[in-house]
Amino acid sequence: MSASTPGSSAGTAPENVVIIGSGPAAWTAAIYAARANLRPLVFEGEPVGTELPGGQLMLTTDIENFPGFPEPLSGPELMERMKAQAVHHGTRVVSELVKEVRLGERPFTVVPNYSEAVQAHTIIVATGAAAKWIGLPNEQRLATTGGGVSACAVCDGAMPFYRNKRLVVVGGGDTAMEETLYLTKFASEVVVVHRRDSFRASKVMAQRVLSHPKVRVIWNSRVTDVLGDDFITGVRLEDTVTGATSEFEVGGLFVAIGHTPNTRFLNGQLSTTEHGYVQVTPGRTATTVDGVFAAGDVIDDYYRQAITSAGTGCMAALEAERWLAHHGIEDSAATTEATNTETASAVAVSAT
Ligand SMILES: Cc1cc2nc3c(=O)[nH]c(=O)nc-3n(C[C@H](O)[C@H](O)[C@H](O)COP(=O)(O)OP(=O)(O)OC[C@H]3O[C@@H](n4cnc5c(N)ncnc54)[C@H](O)[C@@H]3O)c2cc1C
Repeated sequence: MSASTPGSSAGTAPENVVIIGSGPAAWTAAIYAARANLRPLVFEGEPVGTELPGGQLMLTTDIENFPGFPEPLSGPELMERMKAQAVHHGTRVVSELVKEVRLGERPFTVVPNYSEAVQAHTIIVATGAAAKWIGLPNEQRLATTGGGVSACAVCDGAMPFYRNKRLVVVGGGDTAMEETLYLTKFASEVVVVHRRDSFRASKVMAQRVLSHPKVRVIWNSRVTDVLGDDFITGVRLEDTVTGATSEFEVGGLFVAIGHTPNTRFLNGQLSTTEHGYVQVTPGRTATTVDGVFAAGDVIDDYYRQAITSAGTGCMAALEAERWLAHHGIEDSAATTEATNTETASAVAVSAT
């Protein structure tokens, strides 16, 4: 955590903006809020299983579609740079998960796992979503080392090492259908492995997949092992009806069995969509509680990209800034403290 003490519930002034999360949405919101002199406080989370501070991009290798980086850079490096930019402009960071928020009273209360609760005039929820994995050890290992296992075809499918290979997609919903069709642009064959005998996806999407000349479906099957040391070489399948096992060679595995938005700590205080994503005003980031904004994958079950998350993070910070101005709170103690510190150091510098 940085030098100054966050606005705890023990008497210090409330924070202007508390940002919860640490992916592209959170850091972009922090950059904008910090540059507006709001001294944002970010709770960036802590490592829990495959969830890491820095978000989903910590699980991937090269990012080729984030504008401004013609040379590929790794997901962790991109997140490190975003965080450094936010901190450079005055963002304070607490490396803890938020376990609870209390939105029934103003200022709001944000309760982290270990340190004291913090009060805040506005909150930006940017806690993202977690891609669901099959849960196999080699799947997780190869997903984090660039070994040909991914949970995002649009993100990774165009990588050279997937070209003209046989690729497997696991899943049966609309996302799996979209990922399958996308991968047909690069693969020699796309094999969809589905544990049932029909798709859950919409009829139109399912039909497009079933009629595609490059697609084959293996029904009633599940992946029970991912084979390969440095790079995937195959998968082991189990027939869900007969229990028979088989292996076949593949050049990539795309897991498309859904995402879980990270909203549990909200405890139902914000309205959500039918799929559990935080509901916002269309075209905005305002949630159903005035003064609480949400950005990134936690509001988005459609685009799910770093750049769209960064975009809504920017929107949330601008909306929070305007909310504070509208309520005459721009000059809260956190901002005043920053101004005083800057004045004091300017005096110290000019005195030497
Ligand atoms: C394997 C993979 C590869 C991808 N590759 C690309 C790509 O190449 N290009 C691209 O544009 N997109 C890619 N994506 C998608 C991209 O990662 C997401 O769209 C983006 O990261 C979403 O950003 P976000 O800010 O909403 O949150 P996330 O990245 O989901 O991060 C949110 C983070 O907030 C923290 N958090 C959660 N709950 C709490 C809490 N209660 N308190 C405090 N902190 C909390 C956690 O650390 C969490 O991980 C990929 C995704 C995956 C899974």
